[in-house]
Amino acid sequence: MAGLYDRDAKALSRMSFLRFFPQAVIGGDGAHLIGDDGRRLLDFSASWGAASLGHSHPALRDAVTRALESQAGASHLSSANLPAVELAEKLLSIAPKRATGRVWLGHSGSDASETVARAVVAATGRPRIISFKGAYHGGSVGSMAVSGHPVQEGVPKAPGLALIPYPDPYRDGGEEAAANSAITQLESLLSGPVPPQDVAALFLEPIQSDGGMVVPPAGYFEKVEEICRRHGILLVADEVKVGLGRTGSLHAFEQLGIEPDVIIFGKGLGGGLPVSAAVGPEAIMDHKPAFSFQTVHGNPVCAAAGLAVLQTIERERLTENAATVGRHLLERLLRLKDKHAIIGDARGRGLSIGVELVVDRANKEPAKTEAALIVYRAFELGLVLYYVGINSNVLEFTPPLTLTKEQADEGVALLDQAICDVAAGRVDRSALAAFAGW
Ligand SMILES: *Cc1c(COP(=O)(O)O)cnc(C)c1O
Repeated sequence: MAGLYDRDAKALSRMSFLRFFPQAVIGGDGAHLIGDDGRRLLDFSASWGAASLGHSHPALRDAVTRALESQAGASHLSSANLPAVELAEKLLSIAPKRATGRVWLGHSGSDASETVARAVVAATGRPRIISFKGAYHGGSVGSMAVSGHPVQEGVPKAPGLALIPYPDPYRDGGEEAAANSAITQLESLLSGPVPPQDVAALFLEPIQSDGGMVVPPAGYFEKVEEICRRHGILLVADEVKVGLGRTGSLHAFEQLGIEPDVIIFGKGLGGGLPVSAAVGPEAIMDHKPAFSFQTVHGNPVCAAAGLAVLQTIERERLTENAATVGRHLLERLLRLKDKHAIIGDARGRGLSIGVELVVDRANKEPAKTEAALIVYRAFELGLVLYYVGINSNVLEFTPPLTLTKEQADEGVALLDQAICDVAAGRVDRSALAAFAGW
């Protein structure tokens, strides 16, 4: 396979690498990628959820082609263009009442999170933000400043940032115990070191994705909302990875029983093109002209892609598909759990699933090396998926929303084989040396 992967390693900066195996792709269609060795790889990651419609979806291709036939400029900073307006209008039409107001368009989850973090502080005059340990809101300075993921250790945090634990039913003694202890900690924070009148907003992930695909306990975020409302603290839902149909509802926060003030979209919104959005009330999102922009924000090509994605999710009923196929996939993964002791937990909503690997089910010691070996072996067998988690031991499933049950079954069979091969010692550990993952 000397070729594309090696050229990539010579030419491209390692600072942007998050590699798990020597994947080099030259094309793709639907839920499959085509390797430079001609193999068809079943894609259970969809590039971390960004390829929401799968690869080469005709609706996305047509929208982008049309936008480029007579290009309405390359930016909306100093002019209006139809795709940007239509995308914004569409996002407002799907936003809950509380968040209806204005739409800010960006390139990435990072720039959107950063913009919201700056805007909530500037607009409310309250200096502090609360977010979660293990949270990933982006890789720019301002979005890392409100994140709590260990991969960003050492990066300066926003002044006064308070990180609270994300309740983890698997590790914190079940749903109720996890929720109660997390709520107690939030309450003691607000009655002690962090006066609520200093807090502009609480940033939340409806499923803590890069932190380990942790599904919060039932009722937890309703209590969080109650506390925040009592103190005038804004709720910001980061729907970048699990929003827009992926969890089986259009918005992931709907399943938490809450209504956020500001919503952040990214990844799947562009279907593979760089588009993000923040939607919220005018008082926050209109804070000041020229407060946050980059030159080609709101460009008509990426905006047209975003609009096409939203229309396709509706037209092809992909939210319903994510619910149905996701339920099927999770059920198959739970069957794998009965077979393989290394699987400590399988959880998720819709096509947003995590499989947590442990060395020992009793003490739940994270099986970090095995996670790396299993994703490596799965790739050799033809299945693409990566691992996440504060302990790097959770296999992440964010396939295209178009995934079929047959493809789900095919992927589970490959994963089953990969786990067997690793358990039998058939995978050479030295293969991992070049792949640090995260
Ligand atoms: C990936 C991610 C981001 C950052 O998005 P980028 O497109 O990588 O900038 C923000 N929030 C969540 C929840 C994410 O998963």
